[in-house]
This record gives sequence, structure tokens and C-alpha cells, in this order.
Amino acid sequence: PARVDAQTDGRTPAELDTGVPHPARVYDALLGGKDNFAADRQVADAIRANPAGEIGPLANRDFLRRAVTYLSTEAGIDQFLDVGTGLPTAPNVHEVAQTINPAARVVYVDNDPIVLVHARALLVSAPEGLTSYVDADIRDPETILAHARETLDFSRPIGLLLLAIGHFLDDEDDAYGVAGRLVEALPSGSYLVMSHLTGEFQPEETKKTEAMYKAQGMKLRARSEEEFTRFFDGLALIEPGVTLTHRWRPDALDRIPADTPGEQAPGYGAVGRKA
Ligand code: SAH
Repeated sequence: PARVDAQTDGRTPAELDTGVPHPARVYDALLGGKDNFAADRQVADAIRANPAGEIGPLANRDFLRRAVTYLSTEAGIDQFLDVGTGLPTAPNVHEVAQTINPAARVVYVDNDPIVLVHARALLVSAPEGLTSYVDADIRDPETILAHARETLDFSRPIGLLLLAIGHFLDDEDDAYGVAGRLVEALPSGSYLVMSHLTGEFQPEETKKTEAMYKAQGMKLRARSEEEFTRFFDGLALIEPGVTLTHRWRPDALDRIPADTPGEQAPGYGAVGRKA
């Protein structure tokens, strides 16, 4: 049977403070969603002054759809751990995966309380499959793994999705260590899918955006291609390797064409396989 669980480990989820911006809600505003508040829209409007603010998130969602399609078809993956899910935005990971394999299972994880609220209502599985939702912080990978084991079979390959979340971890957060501990827990034949903001195309603009996030009480840490690639140390990169998200196996359903300049969609994406 289908199941949508909100697993909060007995703790009270973080309070819903709509007066300060949150990354999930700013991103929702950039995607044209409705689950955001004035404080989030103010940040989104400032980001949108640059075309990348609008195009980047769409390119990232296109990449999500293509990467999950690749894993579900060519790679034969039928279980996913999606950390930093974001507010539900069609198509969500389970919708992409279950269109191909209705029995696919997805564990969603986010630390924004408003994602928790919407996840219950919207991340509903096909009857053959299973979705669950974990309210947790990626910097606490052990909690995430403990909950994921209740829904996913860790003796079979898993697709770990870290999409547009790495840039919310700065150097103090040990971004590589956190991602590495999640990958370490996966069985052989599993995959890591990542996308990440880069400042390489507009260094000055990006520094300003990082400073704006910081001033609003959030974190933002863009990374270079080399820094992004380091997340895949020890994994075999699937063709075409590390590319801008809109150039990773583009297809006819894309909203952002592959020849879009990097300035307009400054995010790297890649898929790696664990031996
Ligand atoms: N993965 C989705 C959403 C990206 S937005 C996509 O690519 O479209 C980034 C998400 O990461 C937000 O929902 C935000 O709440 C979440 N996030 C940021 N920092 C986090 C943390 N430390 N732990 C868990 N989730 C986090």
C-alpha cells in the first residue's frame, strides 16, 4: 500500500517562521510556485534581476527529470533517496520514477518545516510503490540513513539525489564529509546525482548573491567545476561527466536548450556510479 510518513524522530520540527526567507521558499518563488512569503519573494526578486535567477532553477528541474529517467531506465534503479527535496513541484522525483516503474520507492528529506507540511499532501505514491518523508538536516546523515532504511532496501542499489542542496552547505558544514557519509552507506551499484550552483561565469554577481543570502540569515556557497567534481571522488562518472545541468543528456522535453550560455544557467550536474 501507498504510504506517506512524516518522520520527525519525536522532535518538534523547526518553527515555521514566515518573516524570514528560507532557501526552499525562495527557490519555489523562482520556479513560480505559490508556497512562499513576502520575505522569500523579496530575495527572489533580487535574484531575478539576473536572468540566471529564472533560467537556472528551470534548467535544474530539467536535469532532475533527465537524471531520474536515466537511473530508472538504463541504470535499472527503483529506489531513491532525495535529500533537499524542496517544495513539491511537478514532476516530483517519484512521479518521474513511477511513470517508468510504478513500484519505485522514494524517500524524501528536507529540513524546512513548510516542505514537511506540503509533503504530506502532495508526495503521494502510486499504489504499487512507496514514498516517505523525513524531516531532517543533511548535516545529520545518520538520522537520514536510519529512516531511509525503513523504506529502502540497502542491499540493493539506490539513487542518491543531492540536487541544488550542496551550495547551502559551506566549508564549516563539511559538505564533502556529509555527502561522503551518505554515499558510503550505499551498496555497490548505487548512484550519486548532484547539481550545484557555480560562480565561475559571473564571479562578482555570485559573490553579491552569497552576501545577500548571508545577510538574510541563510548560507550560499557556489563552487567551481573542480570543487564540484570532488564530490564524485571514488565514483565512476557516467557520460558526459561533469557538465552544465542543461548539457547533461539533453532531450526534447527540456525547457532550457543545451546551447543556453553558462551565464544564464550557472549550475553543474553529474551522475556517478559506485563500484
Ligand atoms: N532538490 C530540489 C530542491 C532544491 S532547493 C531541486 O533540485 O529542485 C534546496 C532544498 O534544500 C530546499 O528545499 C532546502 O530547504 C533544502 N535544504 C537546505 N539546506 C538543508 C539542510 N541543511 N538539510 C536539509 N535540507 C536542506
